[in-house]
Amino acid sequence: MDDTTDITDPTTTDRARRFLFEQADIRGESVQLDAVFSDILAVHQYAPGVSRLLGELLAAAVLLRGTLKFEGKLVLQARSEGQIPLLMAECSSAGEVRGIARGADLATANDFGQLLGKGSLAITVEPQRGQRYQGIVPLAGDSLAHSLDAYFRQSEQLGTRFWLAAGERRAGGLLLQQLPAQLTTDPAVREQQWEHVCALAATIEPPDLLELGPEELLYRLYHEDSVRLFAPSPVAFHCSCSRERTLRALSAIGKAEIESLLREMGCITMDCEFCNQQYRYLREDLTDILDSRPRPVLH
Ligand SMILES: [Zn+2]
Repeated sequence: MDDTTDITDPTTTDRARRFLFEQADIRGESVQLDAVFSDILAVHQYAPGVSRLLGELLAAAVLLRGTLKFEGKLVLQARSEGQIPLLMAECSSAGEVRGIARGADLATANDFGQLLGKGSLAITVEPQRGQRYQGIVPLAGDSLAHSLDAYFRQSEQLGTRFWLAAGERRAGGLLLQQLPAQLTTDPAVREQQWEHVCALAATIEPPDLLELGPEELLYRLYHEDSVRLFAPSPVAFHCSCSRERTLRALSAIGKAEIESLLREMGCITMDCEFCNQQYRYLREDLTDILDSRPRPVLH
């Protein structure tokens, strides 16, 4: 990844905007990904059906980043027996996004079931410090948004709904989430308010998520409600790979294998699958691994 990306750059078109209903305990977030999506698509060539689902998963990862309560990252992984064996998207608390579709080179379908059939969706929260947490649900219904809805139905008491879309160059999404009771304590009224905002959100079509800016989208849906829109939080494509991390991965394959690769090739190269960055190691770069003694085995 180049170091020139400045995620605080105000001219970037990639934006996530949080909003809050002022008379109901409900929050929301809208996201549009332009540069992030095209940067990721520039690394790999994907068929249209694959890039559409990757775009939707990237938008979902950015929306879910808002649920992180500490520094770290959120990783979404869809595994399936369909034409996309693995689809992955992650977003850090700082707004750094990356994603990939693995093993989908021969995918031709556009249909969700053919692309991600018989699959599961894992949501992993990786704090910078502390325990990682993972929840898994079957890929349900006919979309990633429905699968995420199902995940939150089973794991959270607070209602959470997703709307996702992606085209050739842009991905977009909308999240609505109930907040703990504060303004409205009557459960029946809470439910009514939640159904009201969800019913209106259900009137948007995928092109609206891609074409309307956050102000327009919120006006279209909620001009009769009082909604506060917060300043945009920027997001950017950024890969977290590094020479040190790659070296750690290399040390795990074992000395004998490294020796044999060096004899055969003269050097070892490792490519990052997220950003295509190539890391190249000569024998002298690997002396720490090759000279290390095996750990004593304690009986
Ligand atoms: Zn990378």
